[in-house]
Amino acid sequence: MMKIENLTYIYNQGTPFEKKAIDNINLEIKENEFIGLIGHTGSGKSTFVQHLNGLVKPTSGKIFINDKEITKEGLNLKYLRQEVGLVFQYAEHQLFEETIYMDIAFGPKNLKLDEEEVHNRVKEAMDLVGLDFETMKDRTPFELSGGQQRRVAIAGVLAMKPKILILDEPTAGLDPHGRDEILNQIQKLYEQGDMTIILVSHSMEDIAKLVNRVIVLDKGRVALEGETREVFKRSKELEKVGLGVPQITKFMQIFKEYGNDVNEDILTVEEAKQEMIKFLRRESHD
Ligand code: ADP
Repeated sequence: MMKIENLTYIYNQGTPFEKKAIDNINLEIKENEFIGLIGHTGSGKSTFVQHLNGLVKPTSGKIFINDKEITKEGLNLKYLRQEVGLVFQYAEHQLFEETIYMDIAFGPKNLKLDEEEVHNRVKEAMDLVGLDFETMKDRTPFELSGGQQRRVAIAGVLAMKPKILILDEPTAGLDPHGRDEILNQIQKLYEQGDMTIILVSHSMEDIAKLVNRVIVLDKGRVALEGETREVFKRSKELEKVGLGVPQITKFMQIFKEYGNDVNEDILTVEEAKQEMIKFLRRESHD
């Protein structure tokens, strides 16, 4: 569904502040994938995702969505904004309308949809992020908790009905409760089955729990890429680019290194628990 060809981006090209942020990326993203994009700070994640909805134009290279080149000069951005929704870091900073309804309706109204369609989209988007339409729609977003404000911002993007949803560090700065809420909503959104999701995150735990495929960026290049379980097996390579694996995965890898016959290929605490029970049963039989 999305194809990225030889993508390169240089900030401040031709000045003493020149900086190559994206360095010849080639990738394909298929319909309905749930992708985790990880990498050290400064590895190019934000610059990369801003290319996918046309906010940043490549220095060189091309991006296609369903065979349509979105990096072409003069492309209709309205088309692109309906295909790709980008939820920025600290998205709640962009809330500005008086009521939650008006904020979420802003994008759909710009599409010149009729009142009824706008209303339906706002309601549906609020349902999707778990905000009660009747009790919340007329409230000001500024009285909400940080987690709830962020959900309003996400609803504003969902109301555009994008086929590809990109979330740049959606849990940054939230308390554990707010974080769990947002992650559960994202998981539910994905399970509804009609969206491709790209999640940018610092948390290896979140990535391990949620996504099917991991893309690792390092210095603007794809350093590693593959199915989640396969990528987290390669802890040495991840360490080289300044990343870890989930703590529970690390624990199982070390436990195995100590000579215990367990499967170290573990992503969550629940999987570790099941593996440990099997291990202890085997031990007690021997
Ligand atoms: P990440 O999202 O992985 O932290 P970024 O895409 O923000 O990475 O940054 C990639 C590189 O580009 C970094 O070296 C960063 O300093 C540089 N960079 C980002 N934004 C700008 C900018 N507006 N001007 C110049 N350099 C920038």
